[in-house]
Amino acid sequence: MAIQRLVEPISDEGDANEQIIEVTLRPTTFSEYVGQERLKKNLKLAIAAAKKRGEPIDHVLLYGPPGLGKTTMAGVIANEMGVGWRVTAGPAIERAGDLASILTNLADGDILFIDEIHRLSRAVEEVLYAAMEDFKLDIVIGKGPAARSVRLDLPRFTVIGATTRTGSLAAPLRDRFGHMHRLEFYEPRDIEKIITRSARILSSEINDEAAQILSKRARQTPRIANRLLKRVRDYADVNGDGMIDAPTSHQALAMLEIDELGLDPADRGMLRAIYENYGERAVGLNTIAALTGDELTTIEDHLEPYLLQIGFIERTPRGRKITPKAVKHITEKDKL
Ligand code: ADP
Repeated sequence: MAIQRLVEPISDEGDANEQIIEVTLRPTTFSEYVGQERLKKNLKLAIAAAKKRGEPIDHVLLYGPPGLGKTTMAGVIANEMGVGWRVTAGPAIERAGDLASILTNLADGDILFIDEIHRLSRAVEEVLYAAMEDFKLDIVIGKGPAARSVRLDLPRFTVIGATTRTGSLAAPLRDRFGHMHRLEFYEPRDIEKIITRSARILSSEINDEAAQILSKRARQTPRIANRLLKRVRDYADVNGDGMIDAPTSHQALAMLEIDELGLDPADRGMLRAIYENYGERAVGLNTIAALTGDELTTIEDHLEPYLLQIGFIERTPRGRKITPKAVKHITEKDKL
């Protein structure tokens, strides 16, 4: 198994304790959900309209890099609508029958959150978009000549799909979503609010200066902000009196080798490998993956979005290029 990087925005699933913390830190209302103002405005309107009509909200597709709050938003929508929600993921629904059993167990108005919806198989996708369209499910009972098709009525449910890439979604499925929203990277001051809120929930003391330092290194991503906070909190508990201030934050971050832009040794290693082998010329993603030994999807979904966001990498028709800004950053780090 690959070593999990601290700044990687994938969830901390697997560790029961981390999971409990993640659940307690998750906002459940629009007012607790920091940032993403445009998204919130649109969804609030959609929810108010749906409530007024006494109907479920239209299907919602949320896309953007991991850790920006897609799952959290699905929970907020369910809570604000006052309905139940069920969480699943594309790879977990292997057969059409798995989907049928999930759908037939939903209550009227329920929300079905499907993470990584681009990873559904074609067969499952087809059943899903038919069900999303008219809330009916066609299933085949029996085999061979005795097989017959039965049409079941489903409750009126809402699918909230999350994906890191809309391009991988089949067009008929994409067309079933009434709302499509991209989640943006967060402003540092919003990340600061998230850190302060999480510290309060975790009963941890943090001053404004420290919250500001952490917010600049969290890659504009709430999940990473919370994770940095937890690690710095550990450091403060062990090496001090638990108070998270500027010196403690600097020391902890230095120990974790996270620089002032939130890059860790793996990011710097990747940038350096590209620079040393290709300079500032364009290079294909496959070649980058071969250079660093990472999976292609790790680079595309986890490493690259933030590097693109801060202008360290550029997409060109012939591949990725690192920018002079990135070269300056890594060569300065080399001198340290
Ligand atoms: P995604 O589904 O996009 O990968 P999540 O919804 O799982 O991301 O978010 C990761 C964590 O970040 C959540 O557990 C939550 O605590 C925190 N988080 C995400 N978005 C926000 C937000 N807007 N305000 C406060 N905390 C947030």
